[in-house]
Amino acid sequence: ARKFFIGGNWKCNGTTEEVKKIVNVLNESQVPPSDVVEVVVSPPFVFLPLVKGLLRPDFHVAAQNCWVKKGGAFTGEVSAEMLVNLGIPWVILGHSERRLILNESNEFVGDKVAYALAQGLKVIACVGETLEQREAGSTMDVVAAQTKAIAERVSNWSDVVLAYEPVWAIGTGKVATPAQAQEVHFELRKWLHANTSPEIAATTRIIYGGSVNGANCKELAAQPDVDGFLVGGASLKPEFIDIIKSAE
Ligand code: 13P
Repeated sequence: ARKFFIGGNWKCNGTTEEVKKIVNVLNESQVPPSDVVEVVVSPPFVFLPLVKGLLRPDFHVAAQNCWVKKGGAFTGEVSAEMLVNLGIPWVILGHSERRLILNESNEFVGDKVAYALAQGLKVIACVGETLEQREAGSTMDVVAAQTKAIAERVSNWSDVVLAYEPVWAIGTGKVATPAQAQEVHFELRKWLHANTSPEIAATTRIIYGGSVNGANCKELAAQPDVDGFLVGGASLKPEFIDIIKSAE
């Protein structure tokens, strides 16, 4: 059994006051217990200590990125060691906004995942195709290549959650249909089965991201290979609680 996983990616949003408000809503919510659903929210770096300090203990925090190797003369970067030092358990790596806007390659993302895991972080690793790639029929080739670059560098997948986030569904309100999500999740699991191990394929959580909201989460959550969500816009709103409840 794969424990349902709900991630809230706050992206580059929020003020101190807004962050405190969101944390209050989370802290006061009644959601399924932590043996049923794992909840992880990801504020911008600067708010990580604040959120970690205020957040109820059954919810956890993730950074949205970290540097690819040991820290040093890399102005503007934050190292995996620093996150570990602050007690941050999770990091999101390979988000499409970083792959596409900041030109992070499959290999670079794979290196980041391997390095973060080696430092003891747990990783939400993101993959996903653009609209152009989907229309060209290359969705599986794209997500397989992205996953392969991780699998070539990582042997222990127990601390990895794989997030399938089709770029055309992110922030567009254009959610993948349950069948579209299930198809890619199923293919990704098949890929893991063939290229890592049957055990890794059976136990690795594959979560969906892209315009998930309180209204569409239930049907997506019912798909056999959808093990949770990575939520953007709706994770900043009270409806995030409804999404957490879709775990049941
Ligand atoms: P939206 O939920 O805003 O579409 O964003 C999804 C996402 O990118 C989560 O990482």
